[in-house]
Amino acid sequence: STQPEYKVTDPATGEVSETFPFATDAEVEAATSGAAAAFADWGARPVEERAAIARRVGELFTERADDLAAIATKEMGKSHGQAKGEAEFCTDIFGYYADNGPELIATKPVPGYENAHVEYRPVGTIVGVMPWNYPYYQVARFAAPNLIVGNTMILKHAENCPKAALAIADIMRDAGVPDGVYTNVFATFEQVAGMIADPRIHGVSLTGSERAGAAVAAEAGKHLKKVVLELGGSDPYIILDSDDVDAAAETAWETRMENVGQACNSNKRMIVMDDIYDDFVAGLTRRAAELTPRSADADGYAPMVSRKAAEGLLAQVQDAVEKGATLHTGGTLADGPGAFFAPTVLTGVTPEMRAYKEELFGPVAVVYKVSSDDEAVELANVVDYGLGGAVFSTDEERAVRAASRLDVGMANVNTPAGEGADLPFGGTKRSGFGRELGPLGIEEFVNKRLFYVQ
Ligand code: NAP
Repeated sequence: STQPEYKVTDPATGEVSETFPFATDAEVEAATSGAAAAFADWGARPVEERAAIARRVGELFTERADDLAAIATKEMGKSHGQAKGEAEFCTDIFGYYADNGPELIATKPVPGYENAHVEYRPVGTIVGVMPWNYPYYQVARFAAPNLIVGNTMILKHAENCPKAALAIADIMRDAGVPDGVYTNVFATFEQVAGMIADPRIHGVSLTGSERAGAAVAAEAGKHLKKVVLELGGSDPYIILDSDDVDAAAETAWETRMENVGQACNSNKRMIVMDDIYDDFVAGLTRRAAELTPRSADADGYAPMVSRKAAEGLLAQVQDAVEKGATLHTGGTLADGPGAFFAPTVLTGVTPEMRAYKEELFGPVAVVYKVSSDDEAVELANVVDYGLGGAVFSTDEERAVRAASRLDVGMANVNTPAGEGADLPFGGTKRSGFGRELGPLGIEEFVNKRLFYVQ
């Protein structure tokens, strides 16, 4: 198969420092039977006991945040500060579910009945397939609610963050998560498909690309397993008016550059009213052009995840420029072997360009000019994705009206995105289905069992 091995490749240098072999089929079988065996005890424990362990898992993410951050920087390139913040956010996620999970999954009455209620029962073992862009946060969103619910988990992480995957498994063990409740496997795609087909597996949750989501969902469909998919996005970021265009450009730019643009819900398409458009583009361009790549002794922008990803982004930008788009700054990839992609501002993107409908997963701000709220909303909804979106205006009602017409899973007004362990996250259209985080994130892999006593 052409699937790459699990290995640590420094995106700043291209250097491979460690390689991990694929799991053997015997290891996958041991993970599966171990998870199935652990479920009987774990699912039957009092929820408070599971919550206490989940809380400890969360605490360890902060206690070890520096080490976790160093791993992420080395494996996928993000800056130490952002990686540390991500690890600490995992503490919030486990803490949120430890605090609120027991109540969220408490038995609920059925309105109109004294003799019927709904119980939230664990379903068994869930496979998680997770991406590299937020190697800790993505796993936390999946693992925290499932720990509380009483499911057991097998985790297949991205091939390029094996050490983050192992560090998470260590945290689980050290926090007192029993053997078999959470198992990391360096599985091949075939082994993932084999697990999904296995009657001892009861669901699969994937965060990643549409391609991976479709492949995993096809296997799950064949075997009638529930699936949650958190896929790509090309989120609109609409600015209807502003009394401080430079500040608006600052916020938009900082949001776009978070994780070097490699966030599913990044503001990939900025849609700006014509009267403030020129100043906005100038504000973005100035900020983008100021940045320099990180070097050993300076704190510039981080590399993208890999040379290959950066080359893919470059091809998307070049396609747009060849077809007439305007490059205000950037659009270049530093000479190899690192993956430093110059922060880029692109305008004049039209439907025949790849950049119009494809996700640009890196530091590229695309800005569109519109002349009415209707035009802004229409353009916002033109892509096949529907993850998040934001609308800004000095007139909140006007922004709310536009935001309520966005075909997305997360609509934000006068803020780039609501962020918090207690806010549900997920998309519509080709961005996937199901929700993570918040009260909804604990409802996916549960059997809501009706209990009726005559
Ligand atoms: P990816 O290539 O789809 O990888 C994601 C995970 O899926 C990895 O563990 C990958 O394994 C695995 N995978 C790929 N094909 C598979 C198959 N046929 N069977 C089993 N597993 C398979 O995505 P990526 O490049 O890492 O992540 C970028 C994408 O994720 C972007 O589109 C981004 O928007 C999206 N994303 C969405 C969210 C969200 O919450 N909606 C959050 C973050 C990212 P290998 O690494 O071994 O290939």
